[in-house]
Amino acid sequence: MKIALIAHDKKKDEIIELAKKYKDVLANHELFATGTTGTLIMGETSLPIKRMKSGPLGGDQQIGAMLANGELDLVIFLRDPLTAQPHEPDVSALLRLCDVQQIPLATNSSSATIILETLKSGKLF
Ligand code: PGA
Repeated sequence: MKIALIAHDKKKDEIIELAKKYKDVLANHELFATGTTGTLIMGETSLPIKRMKSGPLGGDQQIGAMLANGELDLVIFLRDPLTAQPHEPDVSALLRLCDVQQIPLATNSSSATIILETLKSGKLF
């Protein structure tokens, strides 16, 4: 599967913890991320990740373009619901495209854990 990993700044620690915990699961898939999220996860896990631009600089739109082209199978986007984001329109567009394309989307750690556990069990797809 092609999986996108994204986290807003206050959620970076959470996505790193998830990536560490599910490193063996994620290693079996093709990984993509926005710039800073990808760099941090690669630094902590050594997982190979194709990095887009940083989210506020167009990375969310690049992930969105992949979604529009049917090039992603799962998105984990840990959003910060308590902080205004300068690139909120890009974030909304990305989330909307997941719904347009019927792509599984986790926007918090609890949902991401359920999806990753399901992936680990081999019962997803
Ligand atoms: P970043 O982008 O991984 O480059 O920080 C995430 C975002 O804010 O969309």
